This record gives sequence, C-alpha cells and structure tokens, in this order.
Amino acid sequence: MELLKCLLESNKKFCANPPVDYAREDVTEGKFPKRKLAIVTCMDTRLVDFLEPALGMGRGDAKVIKNAGNCVTGVFDNTIRSLLICIFELDVREILVVGHYECGMEHTCANGLIDKMLLRGVAPEAVAMVQQELAMWVDSFHDAEQNMRETVEKIRSNPLIPRDIPVHGLMFHPRSGLADKIIDGYAYCPDKV
Ligand code: ZN
Repeated sequence: MELLKCLLESNKKFCANPPVDYAREDVTEGKFPKRKLAIVTCMDTRLVDFLEPALGMGRGDAKVIKNAGNCVTGVFDNTIRSLLICIFELDVREILVVGHYECGMEHTCANGLIDKMLLRGVAPEAVAMVQQELAMWVDSFHDAEQNMRETVEKIRSNPLIPRDIPVHGLMFHPRSGLADKIIDGYAYCPDKV
C-alpha cells in the first residue's frame, strides 16, 4: 500500500478507537504548554516518541520546535520566530535546547549537499542563490555538542528574547535516552525569582 493510503488507514482506525488518555481535558483544552517550556531539538527520527517520555513529559506539556541539527541560523530565523510566539503568545517561560549524539548534521557538508541537489535536477541558478548561506549553515556544524552550546548562546544573546527567560541545554543519547552535558539556564538568570 502506498504510504499516504497506509497512514490514512491507520488514522481511521485510531479515530474509531483512540487511546483513553488522548481525550483528557487538561490536554485537549487550550494551546498553552502545561510546563511553560519550549524545546528546540533535532528532527532525528530516533527522538520521535522517545525524547519527551525520556524527560518525563507527554502530550500538552511543551512546545517542540524541530529542525535539522537544532540550529539557529540568524537573529530572526524560523526557530527564533517560533520562540517569539511561544514566549509572547503561549506563556512559555523557559527554553531547553536538546542536541543529540550521532547527529547526521556532523557528516553533512555543503558541497556534498549541493552535488546531490544538482544531480536531482535542482536548477544551478537556484543553488547559486542560496549557496553562500547554505555553506555558512551546513559547514559550521562540526560537533553536535558544540552546536548545542552555540544554539543556547545564540538564543540567550538574541536581542528579541527577554533576558529573564532561562535557556537550558543538554545532549541526548538517541539509543539509551540518557541526558548529559547539562547547561542550567538558571545559572545565567540571577534576577529570576
Ligand atoms: Zn540530529
């Protein structure tokens, strides 16, 4: 069965008999995250259905913003935009950046990515349009832990993010679920009560 059909088939079955927990009012009522937390993390498939339970969280607890390599690429990039909505519209009070070991971005380089794009028929003019920005983004990612630390720093020092929002960070093992290399954002918020 082709994928979309298969997904819709599953959806029918799910809706006909949803897990009891999914109808809980405290989860379905309202868009505000119960833990007042936004997580910035990687789109890695191993984190799906794994990162949140490994941190004791579930549906309704946090806003989760994902991209390749949990990167922030500019002062007003897509991640920062989502964080602004989280903070000013959804009452988020803390941010957690989660990097992970074995991140695929460590092994991606701009030239390799561009070669693949051209081979698949992406127009060279289109590639040329983004080439410089693409290289700055992809080729600056060497080490997942260093990248996580940089993302924490970029959010913390972003002039659009209020100073009283603690920005935490950690590294996550996609096999064991263990969190380490903890950065405690409270340590940088001495004024926070
Ligand atoms: Zn990753």
